[in-house]
Amino acid sequence: MTEFLFRDDSYLRSTPATVVALTEEGGIVLDRTVFYATSGGQPGDSGRLERADGTSLEIEVAVHPDGDKTAIVHVPANGEARLETGEPIVASVDWDRRLKLMRMHTALHLVTVILPFPITGAAVGEDKGRVDFNMPETPGAPEVIEERLNALVEAALPVSSEWITEAELEANPGLMKSMNVKPPIGQGRVRLIRIGDVDLQPCGGTHVANTLEIGPLRLGKIEKKGAINRRVSVLFG
Ligand SMILES: [Zn+2]
Repeated sequence: MTEFLFRDDSYLRSTPATVVALTEEGGIVLDRTVFYATSGGQPGDSGRLERADGTSLEIEVAVHPDGDKTAIVHVPANGEARLETGEPIVASVDWDRRLKLMRMHTALHLVTVILPFPITGAAVGEDKGRVDFNMPETPGAPEVIEERLNALVEAALPVSSEWITEAELEANPGLMKSMNVKPPIGQGRVRLIRIGDVDLQPCGGTHVANTLEIGPLRLGKIEKKGAINRRVSVLFG
């Protein structure tokens, strides 16, 4: 079982850790990690594992093996040397990339505040993000949506997390904005992300601490995806 340090501190860039297992494909499992693993529309982190001898191993991506949300495998770039079980290392994420993903991920929460429709999908990118909604019509002009989005950014709203039990979530189905992107469940508790007094929803991703850190946003295309679905894209301004 890996300790997910990014859950309590998304700003932690690096940590000492121990290699606890190696997969047949050469993936590395650590006792703790700062690497977010691909899930919920947010891509896994890239970065490096530094060995005691000063050499380092490039990590292409972190993933949950076989969809097991309790484990994280660090996938090395091709041709990298194997580590040893029990070996101490220092794990560091590619921080420039991660910070962009945190800013964009938090921006997508704000999109769901401006457009309060059921969510059918989401994808976080370094420069662009998108949310798919069950939304038969686009409500209002794109310029107005963009303006409201930037007003939420500039409102400097604090972003915080809190935990509830899975039973509490089941008793409050209104917290679930997403129809398809399920929060990580199966561990008895669920993390909620609160943005000021505008948003509260279960989410396992990484976020910035204040909406001001997102920076200016630009609304991209609003595309029709079937009879009742719309895909809304957002870019950094
Ligand atoms: Zn989130």
